[in-house]
Amino acid sequence: MNLARQVADCARLSVAIGLNQGASGNVSARSPDGLWITPSGLDMSGLRATDMVRLDMQGRVLTGGKPSSEWRMHRDLYAAFPQARAVAHAHSPFAVALACLRRDIPPFHYMVAVAGGMDIRCAPYATFGTQALSDAVIAALQERRACLMANHGLVAWGTGLERALALALEVETLCGQYLRCLQAGGPVLLSQEEMAEVLERFRDYGAGA
Ligand SMILES: [Zn+2]
Repeated sequence: MNLARQVADCARLSVAIGLNQGASGNVSARSPDGLWITPSGLDMSGLRATDMVRLDMQGRVLTGGKPSSEWRMHRDLYAAFPQARAVAHAHSPFAVALACLRRDIPPFHYMVAVAGGMDIRCAPYATFGTQALSDAVIAALQERRACLMANHGLVAWGTGLERALALALEVETLCGQYLRCLQAGGPVLLSQEEMAEVLERFRDYGAGA
């Protein structure tokens, strides 16, 4: 149950730091036999370890009640990215605003590299909980640890819960900054060479993941 408690703690923290409210968003962590994920329909701010749901990699419930409607995306992400140990999904205000414009985040700030590449992609729209959405998100996450989801929100993965949540918060911050730049006429973008240097430095620091 230790991992369940950590997922519950992370879910409550996602509300405290402004990433989620009410029952929107979800958090999960990889377990030896599948994953622990937040439940469907419960207020994130009051979640306890006993509310968490354990699934196997086929999506069958091993412990608990009804999993988050986005369980498929979490499961597929763990299957696609062996390094992923935790996933945070949010309907945070700035990420949603940018995702509704269906825009990738270009290299307007060097911190865009924190997600692992030159940009942060926006996955095409598909209905929540569907295989189509899961497939779109996995494609947008190639060589990245975070992406936007068109007309929906953001998703980030990490080698642990804290890193996944920190990355989600960083992406939300970047979305707010980029939107302000767009309102002011559009940013000057960094060049491929400038971003390549940042990516190399981030690798040296072991940043991200
Ligand atoms: Zn969602």
